[in-house]
Amino acid sequence: MLYSNLFPKTLKTTSSEESKNAELLVKAGFVDKVMAGVYTWLPLGLRVLRKVENIIRDEMNNLGAQEVLLPSMHPKENWQKTHRWKTLDVLYKIKSQTGKEIALGPTHEEIITPLVGKFTNSYKDLPVALYQIQTKFRDELRAKSGVLRGREFGMKDLYSFHKSEKGLEGYYPDVIKAYHQIFSRCGLDAVMTTAPGGGFTSGGYSDEFQVVSPTGEDKIYVCKKCKRAYNEEVKITKCECGAFLDKKAKNAIEVGNSFKLGAKFSDAFKLDYVDVKGKKKRAVMGCYGIGTTRLVGAIVERFNDKNGIIWPKNVAPFYAHLLKLGDNKKVSKVAEGLYAKLRRAGVDVLYDDRIDAQAGEKFADADLIGIPLRLVVSERTLKKDSVEWKERSKKDSKNVKLEKTTKEVEKWISK
Ligand code: ATP
Ligand code: MG
Repeated sequence: MLYSNLFPKTLKTTSSEESKNAELLVKAGFVDKVMAGVYTWLPLGLRVLRKVENIIRDEMNNLGAQEVLLPSMHPKENWQKTHRWKTLDVLYKIKSQTGKEIALGPTHEEIITPLVGKFTNSYKDLPVALYQIQTKFRDELRAKSGVLRGREFGMKDLYSFHKSEKGLEGYYPDVIKAYHQIFSRCGLDAVMTTAPGGGFTSGGYSDEFQVVSPTGEDKIYVCKKCKRAYNEEVKITKCECGAFLDKKAKNAIEVGNSFKLGAKFSDAFKLDYVDVKGKKKRAVMGCYGIGTTRLVGAIVERFNDKNGIIWPKNVAPFYAHLLKLGDNKKVSKVAEGLYAKLRRAGVDVLYDDRIDAQAGEKFADADLIGIPLRLVVSERTLKKDSVEWKERSKKDSKNVKLEKTTKEVEKWISK
């Protein structure tokens, strides 16, 4: 991609943004704020969001879950069946011109449970796991954390349906494993946070996945030894592994969670099946969410410095940011040649080909955008037949021989 063609360019200033992620994502041209909690994803931002989604998709498919796409417009009756039409404060309700009321989906138990019910007859139809990556709508009171808390936002939601609680208990740890994989592939160290004392009978058991960050809205106590965490309401001092918890609570961002729902929704929609002995039984459910747009925000909150964003390699909009300095003919020719060679090798590269921008401006933009590898071609580097190689997360730069650069980049990507 040529930077001169990229829509839009970085901003010099931003109106005072409420949070670090919004400030950086807006300034660097990844998102545009339309109103509180509502953002447009611009080309750079969408590249990151798609990478995050594809990591999640990959892990969900590995888990054996199948992807679906449920609607955002939901019939009122479904929400009345679970009583959430009245009780869910964040539910957006709209009326058609004929007076018919519908809900804008904030979550999808009310759609997926009757869907699976429609196609489930016998024990042979279970277990089944379905997921989607889709836009959710919630009438959040406070939407002041940039993309961390949207009123319209992206979520991956997985729902599993089992013959019994035993089936759910067996499946649940596999989802937890997949979740750890997802967050670590996104460069994040997410800690699993439990609210002990939960259980099917006390209204559901849940685990949250939290990324420690000073800007997080949640507070958690992390175990010094096994890295499990407990949420704020918990008045315990020891972890289940026996080690002591941190005395001080840490701020954290909830990037995902998982619920053992039991029969809460299968009761509401009478999701039954006939077991081996011909007896009617009620199915048992789990649901598991990850905020995809929030995850992008959490990555930015976690990886930035005073100059801008520092994208982890797997989710960066491009792997390499190639800068040409000056308007010397030879420099242009070499830079263009390298750009072509990198692209032929399948390396996603953003090439700052501008002739009207000074070196300082190009460096500042590169730091702000935060692509993990910066390659500079200038008269100075050409004297040594080299390219300046600098990783965004490191202080020092080095010179790499021009003819070896593409190979070195490929090696660095696969590392
Ligand atoms: P929170 O406590 O932060 O409001 P929640 O408990 O309401 O989250 P869920 O309903 O379980 O969250 O949604 C699943 C995931 O979706 C959350 O773990 C979070 O990552 C994401 N999420 C929830 N609400 C929002 C929002 N308003 N904007 C962006 N992401 C969200
Ligand atoms: Mg919420």
